[in-house]
Amino acid sequence: MTPTYETHEHDVLIIGAGGAGLRAAIEALAQGASVGVVCKSLLGKAHTVMAEGGLAAAMRNVDKADSWQTHFRDTMRGGKLLNNWRMAQLHALEAPDRVRELEQWGALFDRTADGEILQRAFGGHTYKRLCHVGDRTGLEMIRTLQDRGVQLGFDVYMECTITKLLTDGDRVVGAFGYWRENGNFVLFKAKSVVIATGGIGKSWKITSNSWECTGDGMALAYEAGAELLDMEFVQFHPTGMVWPPGVRGLLVTEAVRGEGGILRNKNGERFMEKYDPKRMELSTRDIVSRSIYTEVREGRGSPHGGAFLDISHKPAEYVKRKLPSMYHQFKELADVDITKGPMEVGPTCHYVMGGIRVDAETGQSSVPGLFAAGEAAGGMHGANRLGGNSLSDLLVFGRRAGLGAAQHAKKAGAPSLNNAQLEQAEREILAPFHRATGENPYAIHHDLQEVMQTLVGIFRTDEDLRKALAELDKLKARAANVRVEGSRTYNPGWHLSRDLQCMLTISEACTHAALARTESRGAHSRLDYPKTEDAWGMKNLVIAKKNGAMNLVEAPRGPMPAELQQILAEDK
Ligand SMILES: Cc1cc2nc3c(=O)[nH]c(=O)nc-3n(C[C@H](O)[C@H](O)[C@H](O)COP(=O)(O)OP(=O)(O)OC[C@H]3O[C@@H](n4cnc5c(N)ncnc54)[C@H](O)[C@@H]3O)c2cc1C
Repeated sequence: MTPTYETHEHDVLIIGAGGAGLRAAIEALAQGASVGVVCKSLLGKAHTVMAEGGLAAAMRNVDKADSWQTHFRDTMRGGKLLNNWRMAQLHALEAPDRVRELEQWGALFDRTADGEILQRAFGGHTYKRLCHVGDRTGLEMIRTLQDRGVQLGFDVYMECTITKLLTDGDRVVGAFGYWRENGNFVLFKAKSVVIATGGIGKSWKITSNSWECTGDGMALAYEAGAELLDMEFVQFHPTGMVWPPGVRGLLVTEAVRGEGGILRNKNGERFMEKYDPKRMELSTRDIVSRSIYTEVREGRGSPHGGAFLDISHKPAEYVKRKLPSMYHQFKELADVDITKGPMEVGPTCHYVMGGIRVDAETGQSSVPGLFAAGEAAGGMHGANRLGGNSLSDLLVFGRRAGLGAAQHAKKAGAPSLNNAQLEQAEREILAPFHRATGENPYAIHHDLQEVMQTLVGIFRTDEDLRKALAELDKLKARAANVRVEGSRTYNPGWHLSRDLQCMLTISEACTHAALARTESRGAHSRLDYPKTEDAWGMKNLVIAKKNGAMNLVEAPRGPMPAELQQILAEDK
């Protein structure tokens, strides 16, 4: 008999209410499934709401020469050809329809003079391709998807954290979690579960990511038997705020460079001329990040260890209209008027290209009944993501995962739960309250961020990565002895004690994969292996749990169809 937890049952349970989760929910509802959406924060507050610059789709509204083929080629080249080519193809083909659909549901994009959706330039994109709403595109996207989902009738469980996926044999049949407000437990039964829990940035000290980005979904999927793909590829966005200290890492959107922003070092030199003279500031993020980092390391950085980014040569009214959030962010947080002078910026941990390994068509992981989409899923972006390609990824693969999950639910039998799993989930989550002595979760999180920032950062070496693995072992031992005080009622220390387990699992996966990939490619830069090796381009790194331990294997990549190879070979 199932213990007496508050219980909800759905055909499809979606964990995460960002762009990927909401788009998956809308599609599953359209297929006639009953849908529940669980999220850690309030509906409308998921990390996607912070997205600024825009959403990439070859709409051809500004540059008529654009095409899905060029978008595909840019994405593959940006990802240093390690992308799942089928995902990159579907993404480029379907993104324009997903944008038009968003517009039909009420999204108000900026407009061209003749009333079409306006598109702006972004790093690594051959043409002006980013549909945007000033620098608040994520807000408009979330608002629109949320309205649509509520109208179609999904059930939302807000401020609820999932701590375990429940399995029946090898199949996922639900999830266990707690209400953040009162700490009570809650049980979800489902025929299909979609992981849409976003990224992992909170394992690094300097990050643009929100508090929710603790890698929960990837860790839950890993524990349930799913594979993680190419976890070594973590993107450091070149432009985060570097000053004042309290806001270090906060994103300065790439739209600043898209609108003509210029990078200079302390000597006033436009240093991108040295690193990528063709694309300059609109080079890809991996290259711009390494360039800024190198300028700082060689003594040409700005006073607070970054570079200067200047948009003040543009008319003030234009800057305020196109970059309103950046204008206010700098004015209020750093007392800098960006219409009059430069900003100080430096790299910040921003996005993870790796994630749960999924089937391109359906979003299904290697575990039956378990699907994934958005930043939690891997493959689409290869070794480096182009700006704007995440929001379009959320829509394209959120829809596909919702469809895949609904179709799976139609065929699947009723979920059957295992009491021993529930008891274990309860024991695990309550353990920090039962220890008479033990460590403070905040201290462990602080040390984890130090380790990942200093040893698994922009530039990596064998020595640092081995040191990081040894440090992670120590941190895991400390985290196993974590202790929290107080009650289960809104207790952030207790919440962190659980999130820590996920961050540690994911940090270990990133470090293992970074150590194994003995080459430099995209966002993964090895000082001891500086070259990009053709042989490494033929394989992905896959991590899964085997006999209770983290196991890493090389997975050969299938051949790309001739027509896609031809698109890649065309040099436009
Ligand atoms: C400042 C900033 C600006 C950006 N700008 C752009 C841009 O202009 N264009 C672009 O393409 N990309 C941009 N990105 C990247 C992009 O915003 C993200 O990759 C994307 O929003 C991730 O969406 P998602 O749906 O996968 O997850 P998220 O939006 O991160 O949502 C995750 C959801 O999962 C929930 N969740 C997590 N763990 C649990 C759990 N254990 N239990 C229950 N719920 C859980 C969270 O509460 C949340 O609802 C930006 C990123 C940042 C940080």
